[in-house]
Amino acid sequence: MMDIVYQDLLEYIPESSIKQNEPMDRHTSFRIGGPADIMVLPGSLEEIINTVHVCRRNSCPYFIMGNGTNLLVKDRGYRGVIVKIGDNMSNYSIDGDKIYSQAGILLSTLSGHAARASLEGMEFASGIPGTLGGAVAMNAGAYGGEMKDIVAWVRVITPDGDIRKLTVGEMEMGYRTSIVQREGYLVADCCIKLSKGNREEIEEKIQEYAKRRKTKQPLHLSSAGSTFKRPPGHYAGKLIEDAGLKGMRIGNAQVSEMHCGFVVNLGGASARDVIDLINHIRRVVKVKFGVELEPEVRIIGE
Ligand SMILES: Cc1cc2nc3c(=O)[nH]c(=O)nc-3n(C[C@H](O)[C@H](O)[C@H](O)COP(=O)(O)OP(=O)(O)OC[C@H]3O[C@@H](n4cnc5c(N)ncnc54)[C@H](O)[C@@H]3O)c2cc1C
Repeated sequence: MMDIVYQDLLEYIPESSIKQNEPMDRHTSFRIGGPADIMVLPGSLEEIINTVHVCRRNSCPYFIMGNGTNLLVKDRGYRGVIVKIGDNMSNYSIDGDKIYSQAGILLSTLSGHAARASLEGMEFASGIPGTLGGAVAMNAGAYGGEMKDIVAWVRVITPDGDIRKLTVGEMEMGYRTSIVQREGYLVADCCIKLSKGNREEIEEKIQEYAKRRKTKQPLHLSSAGSTFKRPPGHYAGKLIEDAGLKGMRIGNAQVSEMHCGFVVNLGGASARDVIDLINHIRRVVKVKFGVELEPEVRIIGE
């Protein structure tokens, strides 16, 4: 079936933007994951829509990814098509206090452009290693800011291949969630609304946040950031530390010694190691504190 999908895709997408049997450890910040049958790297709205149509008419599962920084792909990989919205979709323009950008640009890059244009309000996002599309889909946030504070509108592709322009209200953005994930939409581009500020102050704030991250997070090791969502009234990292799980290892997956909210790959960890560790943490925290930890990391594949 995948040969037919591949041939069908070739009708619409340049061969150089379609990969077969693509190892997913190359595309995830965890550096873990077996091969995807096919990976498409679309470069335009038209290519995205055609990819969705090809998958649908061949009843082929597909999954949308950005920079893979909140993603765990299982060891035998993904059966179907991974649509990676990255470098090929990273154009942007600035007009007054608004930034219009395609979804594949890195948040860190976009925050830098905003700072150089003396636009304030995006500093919180400068150290989040994902794409704009991934951040909008997850309503990513840090240091008191969230994407929903700065998004004006978002253009999405629906699973039927239709284009819709949604206002921030219609995006239903909540804690690490939005309508994008619930409805299986693909974020193609969006408008960010910031305010005029002082370039030096903005850049100082970005540096201050970067310093905080460096001292608190295990950035020297592969991970997908916070493994769990923040449970109401608690911090996942504190619960895990109080449960005595700091440094606990299964295979080469470890509860970070620097920040217990992170599961890290010490090198060569399998997805099985990470999943077993996640399940162990959830069991222990539930028994000790009666709190259900919900993974923030998306787990896909087989
Ligand atoms: C060291 C480290 C620190 C981090 N710190 C933070 C932090 O402070 N705050 C925070 O919120 N997160 C943080 N993260 C997690 C992660 O960077 C964010 O969740 C980010 O928004 C994910 O973006 P991505 O492009 O990597 O998405 P991916 O990991 O590729 O995908 C994540 C989810 O978004 C969906 N998605 C991605 N792109 C699109 C698109 N174009 N259209 C529709 N859906 C899409 C995917 O289907 C998936 O469900 C951190 C991760 C790391 C490794």
